Amino acid sequence: MTGEIKKEINAVTDSTTAKVTDKELELINAYSRRKLTKDEVYVFGVVLCDNDIDRDNERFTVESLFELEKLFVGKTGIFDHSPTAKNQTARIFACSVESVDGRKTATGDDYFRLTARAYIPKTKGNDEIIQAIDSGILKEVSIGCAAGEVKCSVCGESLNHCSHIKGETYGGRKCYGELCGIYDAYEWSFVAVPAQRSAGVIKSFKGKEMKMEEILKSIYTEKDINLSGEECKKLCSYIDELKKSAADGVYYRDSLTSEVLRLSAVVQPDISRETMESVAKSMSVVQLKEFKNAFEKRADSILPSVPQLYKQKNNITAESNGNFKI
Ligand SMILES: [Zn+2]
Repeated sequence: MTGEIKKEINAVTDSTTAKVTDKELELINAYSRRKLTKDEVYVFGVVLCDNDIDRDNERFTVESLFELEKLFVGKTGIFDHSPTAKNQTARIFACSVESVDGRKTATGDDYFRLTARAYIPKTKGNDEIIQAIDSGILKEVSIGCAAGEVKCSVCGESLNHCSHIKGETYGGRKCYGELCGIYDAYEWSFVAVPAQRSAGVIKSFKGKEMKMEEILKSIYTEKDINLSGEECKKLCSYIDELKKSAADGVYYRDSLTSEVLRLSAVVQPDISRETMESVAKSMSVVQLKEFKNAFEKRADSILPSVPQLYKQKNNITAESNGNFKI
């Protein structure tokens, strides 16, 4: 799919509603190999995302939240912070889009958020993790999803193709990206060291190489951006390419300028080299080329062109040599 964007979002757990209902137990048991009792599962909530504008000047549409609601059910969460926790997984067994009474988004729309319910079997090995979630130590969860398109809030086109820039204001309307066409949700994981991560929503373009225009657009528009090592490398080699092209450009301009100065001396000898030099400096490469072509035509009518002279001279020499040979 073109314009594929993989998002990583920081979500937060909510352990305040750890009580399991009968209905929930039924949903959980649809995933477990053997029937679990209420005492055998630890259930917690996760606030996955909402429809408010985030730090990247992007937001999920309400429609996207409903797409994610379907996609996140059944997705497993991993605890990759500890090597001993490799086989421990939590699983989302229910998702729901909910409105929060009276709350509005930054754009003045009704606020909606996507919450999930997840469970972990209460086994001996899971004790520590359950305690960490319960006490709020394991609070941040990283989730990922794929959006087909980021639409511009100003013109409705894909932000990759329109001229608007996220975060800028156009006619009193702020431009932001609307994440549309959500078609996948990925495994989620508890964030390794929550204390060291900045609060709020963190998204990256992980899993997808950023196009150079996207990198440049980010640099021009975002206050602080995060580039991966791979993206930095890409940016550096792009700059190296630009340097090479710039050097070629300087070389081309210099040779064009000296051609114009040489021809100017032939076709308009009354104008000094200094004057012509300063005029040439203010000309664009296209203008220099135009002058060169015009001067060449005039020079041809005044003097025969250099190659002709050279040829004639050679012919004479050859003939003379020939004469001498005989
Ligand atoms: Zn636009």
